[in-house]
Amino acid sequence: MKTIQEMVELLKTHGIAKDIDFHFQITAGHYLRDNFCFEPVSMEESHKYDKLCEVSKRVFKSQTSYICLPDISLEDFAINLKNRLYDIFLNHKILVYISLHKSDDGRQLAEKLDRLIILSMILHEIGHWEDFKKCDCMLYVMMEERNKYYSPANENIRDLQKIEAFLTTEEVKIAHFAHIYHNYMEGIEKTANEYAVSTLKKIYPMISSAI
Ligand SMILES: [Zn+2]
Repeated sequence: MKTIQEMVELLKTHGIAKDIDFHFQITAGHYLRDNFCFEPVSMEESHKYDKLCEVSKRVFKSQTSYICLPDISLEDFAINLKNRLYDIFLNHKILVYISLHKSDDGRQLAEKLDRLIILSMILHEIGHWEDFKKCDCMLYVMMEERNKYYSPANENIRDLQKIEAFLTTEEVKIAHFAHIYHNYMEGIEKTANEYAVSTLKKIYPMISSAI
């Protein structure tokens, strides 16, 4: 398994994300952040939505949700993550720790860590898709939840990253963040993280040899 696309295929063989439309984009650099996301509507459908009146918006159901992922090797993506998207890297390192620290010995986990972090990121986006399906693909509901998430309270996440500098061993660092970070994540991000954790826990025994 060498690419993000192949990782998605692996998940599909285990019954995860089978019905999801994935768009793989050739991308690099700072655009990686924008190209690793769940999109509740296509650009075209989004334009239609914008023109609707408030009443119609509230009942509008998306037919075009998809997950956008970079068409890149796992190795290159891991390098980019550490260099450019460190907040995301750290968040998912914590989620991997929460999911698997009881199921694997530390050495094995360390060897696969980069790949598991990317897997957790993919599962997080699938979590958004699952969440969207639960609200019947109602775009208005999703937007409301998103707005809640981007509230000033979330600035705390940036502050927490600064704490990292004061921590010493990797174990203490991760454990400490695992506790705090998890409590700070709110709304749709918390739900997607919870999906990533529970799914990673469940599927890891089945896919560990392929990771
Ligand atoms: Zn998210």
